Amino acid sequence: MAERTRIIEGNWNCTSCDTRNILARHRSCPNCNNPREETGQESEFDFGEVDDATGKSLREGVTDEKALSAAHAGADWFCDYCSASNRGDSPICRHCRAERSSTSRALSEEHEEPIEAPRARRPPPVAPPAARGSRRKWLYVGLGLLTVIGSCMIWGSRTHGVTGQVTTTEWTRTVHRETFQRVSREGWRSDLSSRASRMPVNGSGEVAGVENIRSCFPRQRGTRQVADGTERVCTTKTRREQCGTTEKCTRQKMGNGYMKETCRDEPKYCSKSYQDCDMRTRYRSEPVFDVSCTYDTYVWQPVDKKVESDRDCAPRWPTLAQGALDRLRREEKYAVRIGYEDGDSKEHVHEPKSEAEFLTWKKGQSVPLEVSNFGSANILAGDAVR
Ligand SMILES: [Zn+2]
Ligand SMILES: [Zn+2]
Repeated sequence: MAERTRIIEGNWNCTSCDTRNILARHRSCPNCNNPREETGQESEFDFGEVDDATGKSLREGVTDEKALSAAHAGADWFCDYCSASNRGDSPICRHCRAERSSTSRALSEEHEEPIEAPRARRPPPVAPPAARGSRRKWLYVGLGLLTVIGSCMIWGSRTHGVTGQVTTTEWTRTVHRETFQRVSREGWRSDLSSRASRMPVNGSGEVAGVENIRSCFPRQRGTRQVADGTERVCTTKTRREQCGTTEKCTRQKMGNGYMKETCRDEPKYCSKSYQDCDMRTRYRSEPVFDVSCTYDTYVWQPVDKKVESDRDCAPRWPTLAQGALDRLRREEKYAVRIGYEDGDSKEHVHEPKSEAEFLTWKKGQSVPLEVSNFGSANILAGDAVR
């Protein structure tokens, strides 16, 4: 990429007569003839404003022979005897004719401020800092919430011990009577094979069977997807693309009131949307047919049930008469209610899994409980009575 260079001339201020903005080409004040010196900031040049985006000086570059020659003469040096500034390539002080000595100081402003595209005043438009800020804000809110939830969980899971008392023991027992009955069902012929039924003896050993397969006719069993040509499917996507160039400039002070500016064009990238298309197979739904038949089989049908429940006593089963083709199915449910004080009166319901366990609980018995701050209670292991 081609580079373009320009020489920019600076200004200085005379500290003897306070004349301001004297061009660097003048080594003595045009007003009072005071030679430019190192002291009093006389050799700290002002190069004017630069463009924020490109770093390019807003000043015109110098083109005249004399100024260019001064710019390329090297860093200024200051006379040991009269302090006047002199061209870097001149061996004799233009003011008092003294020779430059090895102790003569040279102006070293490049070291003071090596500058590169200064654009501190306006933030670059690429990453809006407001958006970044608010994203960070939400991150903090999220972290805060997590902390609150976390400490609640820790607080809530903390437990303390209380002693409860069994207020009542409850049981519910149900007996279901089911009978083996002949029913008509429908099924796919390919899934059916004839098999004789067998009746239960004392509620077991039965076979449901598949008998009397009849009334077969075709019926839709489902659908399948069939390829049906192709279709063009497009989605809108974005990609980064070069869209022209932007100028970027760097500047370097030359130690004599001039500055060298180097500008080059750098590729600029923009977000561009485009259509991403491809051909895809299109599908259509097609019905699938099979042959459906009616057949006979046997199933266990619930015909009757009896429920009994009581409290603070031993459980017993309800009685239900059982026919030849019947079976009985039993269900049992137990509850032990434990009252305790934790601020106010509360109750924990424990459900024993078996009759044996249920029978270990007695009304009035004390029970050590572990209660969490959330209010859930647990019976402590190593329970006294069991
Ligand atoms: Zn002056
Ligand atoms: Zn001198």
